Amino acid sequence: MSESLTPSPALARVAKGGLCAGCGLCAAIAPDQVTIEVTEAGFLRPTQTGPIGAAQDAAIAASCPGLGQTVDAGGRTDDTLWGPYTAMQTGWASDPDLRHAASSGGALSAVLVHLIEGGEVDAVLQTTADPQTPWANTTQLSRSADQILTAAGSRYAPSAPLAGIEALLTKEERIAFVGKPCDVVALRARAMDDPRVARVFPVMVSFFCAGVPSLTGAREVIKALGVSPDEVTAFRYRGNGWPGRAAATLTDGSDRSMTYHESWGGILSGHVQHRCKICADGTGKAADIVCADAWETDAAGYPLFEERDGVSLIVARTALGARLIDQAAAAGAIATEPFDVAGLASMQPGQSGRRRVLAARLAGLLVMGKPIPRYRGLHVIGAAKQGRFPTLVRNFLGMVRRVLQGRIR
Ligand SMILES: Cc1cc2nc3c(=O)[nH]c(=O)nc-3n(C[C@H](O)[C@H](O)[C@H](O)COP(=O)(O)OP(=O)(O)OC[C@H]3O[C@@H](n4cnc5c(N)ncnc54)[C@H](O)[C@@H]3O)c2cc1C
Ligand code: SF4
Ligand code: SF4
Repeated sequence: MSESLTPSPALARVAKGGLCAGCGLCAAIAPDQVTIEVTEAGFLRPTQTGPIGAAQDAAIAASCPGLGQTVDAGGRTDDTLWGPYTAMQTGWASDPDLRHAASSGGALSAVLVHLIEGGEVDAVLQTTADPQTPWANTTQLSRSADQILTAAGSRYAPSAPLAGIEALLTKEERIAFVGKPCDVVALRARAMDDPRVARVFPVMVSFFCAGVPSLTGAREVIKALGVSPDEVTAFRYRGNGWPGRAAATLTDGSDRSMTYHESWGGILSGHVQHRCKICADGTGKAADIVCADAWETDAAGYPLFEERDGVSLIVARTALGARLIDQAAAAGAIATEPFDVAGLASMQPGQSGRRRVLAARLAGLLVMGKPIPRYRGLHVIGAAKQGRFPTLVRNFLGMVRRVLQGRIR
């Protein structure tokens, strides 16, 4: 931002708290005044380049997920940890190639293919590898099953899928949106103020999300594979098996890879942005359909990461989501099995743990005078009551220490 420019109050509050999730919506609301750029730390962040009017600032304040999230269960089953839903199942893509290529069971991609081929939508707005920088992401408007197959698989790097939506909102197409839970929170909130959003994006799909690592994290993975970024022509974070390996294809055609445990557990999880550590919704509470890894657990209840045929957890959060999943199953696009929500906390210990310590982390930031997101209807206190007191104290103090060390920027 130039020094003479008055900063948008909404963006200034986000910046003060290090609250940006990198969704890109502010650039769609103010396309001539905000650009989304990669920062030195390797995250996608807004840069203000022109004066933002009061109406634009209010629109950003109302829909920026960094500033808050409101959940209205509206009569649906509303689990303290997992939020509102109408049905939970496990399943996988019936197409074996899609199941293999995807992150877990490929159920998410199979539903997308079904939506396009069944005429429910004209296209899918989703994230895929950036051909120029293969470990980074770009946003793609997919119109065919082949494009959806190519984009399948989790990409543990920044994505800003909402940055370019203004151009789509002026068209007559119906588009399914796929994004991180915070991207969907932003789009759903924007729909309250801009009627074009619900018309153009009638279906919103998400996945469980433990956090977005920086591009620095990706470069660390490449370094650990013993190669230079210049040699990498293609890069997958996962998929081609479950969980699949982080794999770089090199200029000479050879591949280098490491396990999911080594890439996510050993490197990428250490590069996750601050906003994700205080996320109240890593499970897509604003989406119609959410998929996740239906990890199998050991005797102690912890997930097993041995390679096997992929299985997705499939959550319908709305009546629309439930109808679309049922139709995809009836058409043979996905195979499904019943699932008991009681098993979810042990299947997803990272998600349940973060929900339980959230109140303590927010309290640590508050006492240090840092802005925090405003959460309504997310059972922050109810989740904390499930936490262990020593763990809550440790997380409170941990957040205080992070502020004192200047690590929240
Ligand atoms: C940052 C991140 C964190 C995750 N954390 C968890 C977690 O805590 N628990 C868990 O169970 N699973 C997590 N996942 C994996 C995700 O839940 C799986 O995609 C999910 O298991 C669905 O699998 P699938 O095979 O049905 O999806 P697929 O068929 O593989 O489809 C994946 C979809 O996600 C989209 N996508 C991939 N990367 C991104 C991105 N960076 N931004 C936006 N869209 C993207 C693709 O375009 C594709 O449409 C995470 C994924 C990401 C990208
Ligand atoms: S979270 Fe999204 S809307 Fe908010 S500042 Fe960051 S990019 Fe903009
Ligand atoms: S953890 Fe939360 S804030 Fe971070 S990318 Fe995922 S959904 Fe967004």
